[in-house]
Amino acid sequence: MNLRPFHVDLHIHSKYSGATSQRMDIETIAQQAKLKGLAIIGTGDVFHPVWFESIKKSLSKIDEGTFEHSRYGTRFVLSTEVEDKDRVHHLIFFPSVSAVESVREVFAKHSREIDLDGRATLSIPATEIADVAVEHGCLVGPSHAFTPWTSMYKEFDSIGDCYKDSVGKVSFLELGLSADTDLADRISELSEITFISCSDAHSPWPDKLGREFNRMELDDATWEEVVKAIRREGGRRISLNVGFDPRLGKYHLTACSQCFKQFGFDEAKKLNWKCDIDGGWVKKGVIDRVNELADFPEPRHPPHRPPYLKIAPLAEVVALTISSPDPHSPEVSDVWQKLVRKFGNEIFVLVDAPLESLVESAGPRFAAVVKAFRERNLRVVAGGGGQYGRLELPGEFSNVLPSPSQRKLSEFGI
Ligand SMILES: [Zn+2]
Ligand SMILES: [Zn+2]
Repeated sequence: MNLRPFHVDLHIHSKYSGATSQRMDIETIAQQAKLKGLAIIGTGDVFHPVWFESIKKSLSKIDEGTFEHSRYGTRFVLSTEVEDKDRVHHLIFFPSVSAVESVREVFAKHSREIDLDGRATLSIPATEIADVAVEHGCLVGPSHAFTPWTSMYKEFDSIGDCYKDSVGKVSFLELGLSADTDLADRISELSEITFISCSDAHSPWPDKLGREFNRMELDDATWEEVVKAIRREGGRRISLNVGFDPRLGKYHLTACSQCFKQFGFDEAKKLNWKCDIDGGWVKKGVIDRVNELADFPEPRHPPHRPPYLKIAPLAEVVALTISSPDPHSPEVSDVWQKLVRKFGNEIFVLVDAPLESLVESAGPRFAAVVKAFRERNLRVVAGGGGQYGRLELPGEFSNVLPSPSQRKLSEFGI
């Protein structure tokens, strides 16, 4: 047994889900995953007939539950998200093509649009979804558990209220972009459960795909190994949850869903969750929801909990350090490509590359921002109401004069 780290993103959507990029096809996902540095991706949307066919056609089977793109080497496991009768979203991971077919057959009886939308809506409760999934050898758990739409804690005050007698069948909880382990570990009922961090990407570009992911210690990039890591068996485990600073998420603070005005919890309550500017719905932020549910004022991490590393997409970090503020500009793209070509993939640049080599490739200002970020010193303007938060340079960098690349390293604390 030779356990080594693999980067795994288990929650994406294909082009057959609502509001997704037309480029969410297997080829592009496999290629972009490689550039990002992801070894294993959840296929998403396996109940969609056309998507399921293209999975079977374009990927080669490694074992019953593991599939590989021959050109890019990206591995896939079979996955989907479903919505239950209470509008709560769940993730399901499947051991085989035949398990997908059998579970689909059961769920099709409870869904009008299983053929139409990649994320099927079912008219059954969470309990039944967990029962059917586990009966067929799948893993199941709540998606983006804290968001103020379509999540477990939006609808219920506890995991037991959601899954009832079947709560023991839940094998993980997805943190979602607006939460991290520091927030989730303030809730005592979650101490035994494995947290996964996934991108929920709707487009394949590297600011979306793998924007959150798990570092898993596995013997090989296969379904069986992923299951063991989630169950924390045989030494396999998630050794790092990597994701957004929760303040960068769209629903971190309580805010109006129309004009994004942010409110304190008491203020929002007093206004009856209606914005005093435009009458829009005020969505309860994840931080306020966690405060309502929390048993502890500070996180109490159980011994098995891996650290949570906060990152942001490389394009956004690059944009912060050059004159172009737009992460999609050609200027940013040039630097992004240069870095990814040199270091092999985006995750390595963000998480692992030695700072000195980042200085050589993209200048001291870039290296200083990555350092600030690895050391949790980057300023974040929190998001809310559906608006993402944004990164800001820490005070000492924001006044840096032009030509930062000519300045000495020591000025940036490296
Ligand atoms: Zn969802
Ligand atoms: Zn408003």
